[in-house]
Amino acid sequence: MKQFIYADNAATTKLDPVAYEAMLPWLKEEYANASQPYSFARSAKKAIAEARSLIARCINAEPEEIFFTSGGTESDNWAIKGAAFADTEHRAMITSQIEHHAVLRSCEAIERLGYPVIYLPVNKDGTVLPETLEQNITDNTRLVSVMFANNEIGTIQPIKDLVRIAHKHGTIFHTDAVQAVGHIPIDVQELGVDLLSASAHKFNGPKGIGFLYIRQGTSIVSFMDGGSQENALRAGTENVAAIVGMATALKENCDHLNENIEHIHELENQLITAMNESGVQYVRNGGNTILPGLLSLSFMNQSGETMLHRLDLKGIAISTGAACNGDNDEISHVLQAINLKEEFALGTIRVSIGKQCNEGDISEILNSLKQIIKIRH
Ligand code: PLP
Repeated sequence: MKQFIYADNAATTKLDPVAYEAMLPWLKEEYANASQPYSFARSAKKAIAEARSLIARCINAEPEEIFFTSGGTESDNWAIKGAAFADTEHRAMITSQIEHHAVLRSCEAIERLGYPVIYLPVNKDGTVLPETLEQNITDNTRLVSVMFANNEIGTIQPIKDLVRIAHKHGTIFHTDAVQAVGHIPIDVQELGVDLLSASAHKFNGPKGIGFLYIRQGTSIVSFMDGGSQENALRAGTENVAAIVGMATALKENCDHLNENIEHIHELENQLITAMNESGVQYVRNGGNTILPGLLSLSFMNQSGETMLHRLDLKGIAISTGAACNGDNDEISHVLQAINLKEEFALGTIRVSIGKQCNEGDISEILNSLKQIIKIRH
């Protein structure tokens, strides 16, 4: 059988077997609508409440601050549009140039409705410098939205410093933490953020479910109008199995956070050390503060697209840039924002190592990479 090596964990992750098992009863026997008043619905209601508490504990929030959504895209849309529409007097918004399209397109949508948006530049590592925010924020700024960790190059932002500046101006702070939750410690109290987006399929949970953390007292309007689920802020019958799967997956990852980080760092070092020894000409993007296991590698005078397909033929799944950008072979907005030279940018691949990867996978990736690069020369 052809080998299959999955190293695209920033695009999505394999469902944790413990989460899978936890979901089954809610797909089979316990199919009640959690909003119904009869006793058959009681266990579903209880499961949702327990999932909410579990998730809250993992990020040091209160259960009432966790709102279930259909994933990262919805959480980002809700945070930006919900915060904008809750205050039509303070209309100015600030985000960064390297956000995920869920944030960028949401910002463009509110721009069309008369909300001015500033897109902050980043430095060559992909970092939003606090002084850049300081120069652009005013007391009229309604919301600052800066991602926790970038999905293409892995840069982790100085969120605490950015929050401090936003709050000095009475501005709400949102962070898209889709790539970070379940992979590195996240403490909303320590960070001070008001809104935080997360998505289950990025931390070994099921697809189509996520959450938005909304700090108590943050003014935000509902995104989905309809029934009174989620404290009347996000209507729609709850997907109990997915909610339970998400909470279980997050708890699993948070319970094993340090050992997962250590394992992933070891594999990352194995790849980087061997690449450096092989003399292959490449740069690693993202600076020094990067998400564990996310390697944005740019090879001089190569085609990232061709490398992806050659690796695919060898049974290895990696990505060229952002997952949601898969069909686009232009230089991504993130690589443009960090000013990467074209001869490197076009030869960029993203290897994202997950907890299920092993040493053998890394050796195979490395051997295949070396062969592919040689073939091109
Ligand atoms: N934000 C970031 C940083 C992401 O990486 C992604 C997915 O790639 C999303 C948002 C969208 O999340 P979802 O796939 O759950 O809609």
